[in-house]
Amino acid sequence: MLRIFNTLTKQKELFNPIDIKIVNIYVCGITVYDYCHIGHARTFTAFDMIIRYLQYLKYNTNYVRNITDIDDKIIYTAKKNKEDYYNLTNRMIFFMKRDFKKLGLLDPNFEPRVTDHISDIIHCINILIGKKFGYIANNGDVIFSVNHYQNYGELSKQNINKLKFSQDSNIFQKKCTQDFVLWKRVSKIDTPNWDSPWGFGRPGWHIECSTFNHIFFGKNLDIHGGGSDLLFPHHENERAQSSALYNKNTYGKYWIHIGSILVNNNKMSKSLNNTVFLYDILKNYNSEIIRYFFLSTHYRKPISFDEKKLYKAIFDLKKLYTVLNFIKDRDTVFNKTFSLQYQHFCAKFFDAMNNDFNTPHAISVLFALVKQINIHIRKKNKNLYIQLIYQLKFLANIIGLLNQHPQLFLNSLNEILKR
Ligand SMILES: [Zn+2]
Repeated sequence: MLRIFNTLTKQKELFNPIDIKIVNIYVCGITVYDYCHIGHARTFTAFDMIIRYLQYLKYNTNYVRNITDIDDKIIYTAKKNKEDYYNLTNRMIFFMKRDFKKLGLLDPNFEPRVTDHISDIIHCINILIGKKFGYIANNGDVIFSVNHYQNYGELSKQNINKLKFSQDSNIFQKKCTQDFVLWKRVSKIDTPNWDSPWGFGRPGWHIECSTFNHIFFGKNLDIHGGGSDLLFPHHENERAQSSALYNKNTYGKYWIHIGSILVNNNKMSKSLNNTVFLYDILKNYNSEIIRYFFLSTHYRKPISFDEKKLYKAIFDLKKLYTVLNFIKDRDTVFNKTFSLQYQHFCAKFFDAMNNDFNTPHAISVLFALVKQINIHIRKKNKNLYIQLIYQLKFLANIIGLLNQHPQLFLNSLNEILKR
């Protein structure tokens, strides 16, 4: 039985979807003002693994990942580039899709853009104002009132009283420091802007995700996820809004957060100029090397990225693909019926995956299999080692590994090692 660590309860819980027929999953997507970096790659590879595993368990998944195509960083970058914000976001969406495809990520079922849903966002803000969760500040912004939502701080384990008294330069606009913007009022000449019942403006950041949850899932969803950097304030605010829309105390059954990524033990940031872009890494390394690198650490733990560490992934994959290469007949029917003598490998692999998607343990089972395969190769027990190789491929495929042609992949690894 699958157990998932839920950030909300801080414990592993038995996975029990709201509706057995479909698992609804929402993952906060990219703000498209620049190319995707390896932090994005890690987050979305982790959710790709989670969704593949849920699908293996025969769940139908409904995966929604938004695209933030309007925000301050987008407006600032477009101005700096002297281009229309829409040109910038279209270009970055094109590159995001190109890089994610190359990384081998499954496409979401829906990938809504904020600017295509302004009227839906306005509709949700109207509901929140109607329920007294939203108010209009002195400067014309529409603000969410945190005091109205009694469970504020519960998800990110914040002490609400401490938060309320922290200093904030915009305090004069808000009733409470932690209150946040639902609709940002701008003048008509500040573009882009949209007309609304509260004048020209644009949506605050958090309301888009609650609006998409409202549109695609309604009153609740199974898994809400994102990078751990989004836990506060973004997910706390999202949960407050979504709960308020439905007059509930809580929204989202399981909250999943992916560990952060460091670069040579430093935080990745524009100011440190140490951003590692995904397209740069994909130029030099096969996507499976990158996937293996991420999955060999548990999804909740932080990873320090260092290109040298990719070589460990290369050597490990070389071992796995070398045994795969012992099957020369690619047309042999895939055989899922494994010898009973060796089913304990499967059992251990699934125990690891059912334990909050423990991919490092699952990968260690693949290596235990390789050891056994090599014993039988040496003993020339062909029937047995072929069966075990199929088992190896079957298990690895579940988490998106060992999907490539063995000889071609080994050739590409050798090319990297010659550099
Ligand atoms: Zn979000």
